[in-house]
Amino acid sequence: MDKKDMQKLVETLNKKGFNAKYFSNAAEAKAAVLDMIGPGETVGIGGSMTIYDMKLHEELKAKGNQVFWHWLVEPGERNDARSKAANADVYLSSTNAMTLEGELVNIDGTGNRVSSMFFGPKKVIIVCGENKIAKDYDAAIDRIKNTACPANARRLKLSTPCAVTGKCNECSSKERMCNVTVKIQYPTTGRDINILLVGESLGY
Ligand code: SF4
Repeated sequence: MDKKDMQKLVETLNKKGFNAKYFSNAAEAKAAVLDMIGPGETVGIGGSMTIYDMKLHEELKAKGNQVFWHWLVEPGERNDARSKAANADVYLSSTNAMTLEGELVNIDGTGNRVSSMFFGPKKVIIVCGENKIAKDYDAAIDRIKNTACPANARRLKLSTPCAVTGKCNECSSKERMCNVTVKIQYPTTGRDINILLVGESLGY
């Protein structure tokens, strides 16, 4: 997607009440995220390769912010970290997909990430690489099920069909990741949802 189309998507998102902005690369987006988070604010993070690869958690900790992320703790502490993240001042995540109509489409296994995006912290910051942009809802689901989920299943070493074939077959596996599907069409009441669209491929 070229810069002009991404800027058009930014306009669409802003008309809907999101606070959206375009950044040409991850470094600029990272600096903007760090500027948006005050020194005393606590930060919850959802499962996100985008945020992990940008090393935002490390920068925030170095700045003195308290960070709650279940990826950074022992298995027995993960639920506590998820709850603390949902009650933090700021929630930081990516999105599995973004449609050209300005809808955020996400599929989750536990549900903490998607619920915290629309009913958690008052300030939400979403970083979205250009690879996440999909024409419409069907294309968004297709990219999640056949690109993001297989990659996540392999990373997590899950026994799901998509981990083996790279394609979704709507499994009923015990390790199924696709338990809840959420489409955020407009910002939810009382929430400040900031979206940083980045002209680079980020996460998967
Ligand atoms: S439904 Fe099953 S096979 Fe399909 S993407 Fe989800 S975990 Fe993979």
